[in-house]
Amino acid sequence: MTESAAKVGFISLGCPKALVDSERILTRLRQDGYTIVNTYTDADVVVVNTCGFIDSAKAESLETIGEALAENGRVIVTGCLGVQAEEIRSRYPQILTVTGPQQYAEVVDAVHQHLPPIKNHDPFVDLVPPQGIKLTPAHYSYLKISEGCNHHCSFCIIPSMRGRLVSRSIDDVMGEAEGLVQAGVKELLVIAQDTSAYGSDIRYQTGFWQGRPVKADLLGLCTALASLGVWVRLHYVYPYPHVDKIIPLMAEGKLLPYLDAPFQHGSPRVLKQMRRPAAAEDTLARIAAWRAICPELTIRSTFIVGFPGETEADFDTLLGFLQVAQLDRVGCFQYSPVAGAAANDLPGTVPAEIKEQRWHRFMQIQAGISAAKLQHKVGRTLPVIIDKVNGTEYIGRSHADAPEIDGLVYLKSRRVLQPGGIVNVKISRAGDYDLWGKTVR
Ligand code: SF4
Repeated sequence: MTESAAKVGFISLGCPKALVDSERILTRLRQDGYTIVNTYTDADVVVVNTCGFIDSAKAESLETIGEALAENGRVIVTGCLGVQAEEIRSRYPQILTVTGPQQYAEVVDAVHQHLPPIKNHDPFVDLVPPQGIKLTPAHYSYLKISEGCNHHCSFCIIPSMRGRLVSRSIDDVMGEAEGLVQAGVKELLVIAQDTSAYGSDIRYQTGFWQGRPVKADLLGLCTALASLGVWVRLHYVYPYPHVDKIIPLMAEGKLLPYLDAPFQHGSPRVLKQMRRPAAAEDTLARIAAWRAICPELTIRSTFIVGFPGETEADFDTLLGFLQVAQLDRVGCFQYSPVAGAAANDLPGTVPAEIKEQRWHRFMQIQAGISAAKLQHKVGRTLPVIIDKVNGTEYIGRSHADAPEIDGLVYLKSRRVLQPGGIVNVKISRAGDYDLWGKTVR
């Protein structure tokens, strides 16, 4: 790279799906000879990849755009909030370009237009790693298997921002996964808006990977990923009957025994109002069946309290659901309207103080469940992947912990460990969310 390289500052906001979009844009920019810099003052232009999922995320995105304009002045906006281009432009008319989510070519074109790439860029010298630019640590990576969503959850505007479901072909997904593993990735985090819907839009079309046919459905994908010999963790899975088929792979140790399944509520009436996928399924029976096959299964979920029309009886049903489901990791949000969502027209707004009370009652019950589940791990030996090294102290994660959202394992070891290493750790103590222990052979 020459001294005069064109320099781009990049800010990535939002969820892991947006992070993967950022990785793709950054990879293209690096391939085109741009240098990515970390400060506003070093950048010739700043790209802000926004999130617009809920109002607080939208506010953060707008604030970040304002900051980038104040600090640098030359700003290109992309991502989910980009679908509300008029609103962004009316607030910040000096923005150079606004593009929407997944518009990789458009945002790269916008950078080219406002900051032409250097002329003497040599793609053979300015090598970009074959797996592309990654914003995660080298030992784990998100693997996005589809874009968009075919559901119509009444509180969500993602389908209007990211469009209908578009699954990647199985050979494309597996080619990327294989490349990541060859580059040293030890844990693949499978993501989509609805991972369990993978392939339904492409009629589960069989593709070829390593010379053999692989069906583009959840089971085909999971079976192929399991053969790569790394940790494979599934996010955003709904409790459809066909998900039952992948649980044996978890019981056999081929996939991590972990499901991130956003249930959102336990009352069938509220779930119907939410228009949730798989709302008609008997989720508690399904969870029991999964655990019968794979007792080690960790289930993470998220819930919304105070959805319009939620009665005290609905909320009691939700608490009863929690008691029976005994979920390992749970996030809970108080309902807040999102501009453009269908739920805004529903009657029965729950007053703020009731939402707050329900949230506390929910969290109190779940905290007890989660803490008791962690206590059961004391004395056990668990495989742990190392994330961080602080001298002779290490921070890692067990099978039950996804990066960023779940707990951590703090450990000591006489051996020198590296990030991405997987060791056995005897657990000596458990807190509300995290574990402590030391390595054993
Ligand atoms: S499944 Fe529902 S909440 Fe998830 S992206 Fe689709 S519409 Fe939104």
